[in-house]
Amino acid sequence: MAKKKVLFECQHCGLTTPKWMGKCTNCGAWDSFVELSEHQQEVVKQTKTNSATSAKAVSINDVVEEEIFRFSSLNSELDTVLGGGIVPGSLTLIGGSPGVGKSTLLLKVGANIASTKKDVLYVTGEESTSQIKLRANRLNANNDALYLLSEIRLEQILLELEHRRYDFLIIDSIQTIYSENISSAPGSVTQVRQITFELMRIAKERDIAIFIIGHITKEGSIAGPRVLEHMVDTVLYFEGDSSQELRILRGFKNRFGPTSEIGVFEMRGEGLVSATDISSRFFNRDSQQAGSALTVIMEGSRPIILEVQALVSESHTPNSKRQATGFDNNRLNMLLALLERKLEIPLSGYDVFINITGGIKITETAADLAVLAAIISSFRDRAISKETVFIGEVSLVGDVREVYALDSRLKEAKLQNISKVLLAKKPLEKTTLKTFVVDEVTKLLEWY
Ligand SMILES: [Zn+2]
Repeated sequence: MAKKKVLFECQHCGLTTPKWMGKCTNCGAWDSFVELSEHQQEVVKQTKTNSATSAKAVSINDVVEEEIFRFSSLNSELDTVLGGGIVPGSLTLIGGSPGVGKSTLLLKVGANIASTKKDVLYVTGEESTSQIKLRANRLNANNDALYLLSEIRLEQILLELEHRRYDFLIIDSIQTIYSENISSAPGSVTQVRQITFELMRIAKERDIAIFIIGHITKEGSIAGPRVLEHMVDTVLYFEGDSSQELRILRGFKNRFGPTSEIGVFEMRGEGLVSATDISSRFFNRDSQQAGSALTVIMEGSRPIILEVQALVSESHTPNSKRQATGFDNNRLNMLLALLERKLEIPLSGYDVFINITGGIKITETAADLAVLAAIISSFRDRAISKETVFIGEVSLVGDVREVYALDSRLKEAKLQNISKVLLAKKPLEKTTLKTFVVDEVTKLLEWY
């Protein structure tokens, strides 16, 4: 007789082992392992391998391109992040810190979709239907085809889906829903995975587009969302927290489109709405202070003007601090080393802080030149005109390199009434901006 397979799973991070452990070797949680039933083991297996059917290779010329149908969420920024709209039968996870605006955004989107003669179900496991109704009044999100259900039991939600043919389902939030067939607590890895597995099945079977909300704490430690990333079709995360005026939604995974685009929203009285005139929102033209320099970055296909702020101050501890928010710390250290070596700016006795305004995280190197400019500006206490942008990647040997999509960046700068640009090479295309070529970092000093 075959021996029964035993599998234990950490309810905190989802690590599976054949042996019970007192402390998880992956996430360090104590007493977090539970034994999985055979059915649960099967789910783990299926969700980890992602496909059970055997596949056969086909010639690339014989591959039939799948046409993807989409419908609009009537929210331009959300449509942009999704790659053009919502795909029927897809499962999307939308994650972020509590209070960032996930519920208000999806309630409004639910009402939008309901207004296009589609039936929408909003399941809330956290609030009562009257609380949701109050919010809907404030958001102007009332529609006959928008249905509310206050429920935390998965089986009851599935029953409701039998009653009506819904096109769009919102689950708020995945951490509160539980299945009566599973003994572990709501929000635990086993629950979250099992429920997501069921929702995925329902989405495909009935062609319902499903959005699930997942809360992520500051440490990103909550079990739910991270575990389901590989199970769902699309993963979107809100960056930053509820203290910021602008909220950025970034695609992390998308089975039906690119993940390079971001959505920019702003919190207003009527909820989270698509931000307008995005490029001008991330910098302040009026303040003219030392330690600030502008650059133009690309977020997907959109150029955005950002303000890089630097603070250089004398250090009172033996180890000077170097800290960046919205910019890579290692890259900052490299740029500082260059400043010392090539420009002979003695920074070893100084603390250096870098901040990118608006809560954006810079993921490209085109902002290097602006970071250097901001640091020098702070160090010398000399302000840089807000009429100027800096565009260029800085290499380890100290030369400044061209960046992609220069035309779009220059066009956007022009649009925002910028008059000067410092860059690596004269642009090929004509521009009416005054251009200053800085092909080596040492030339940056001449410009000051
Ligand atoms: Zn663990």
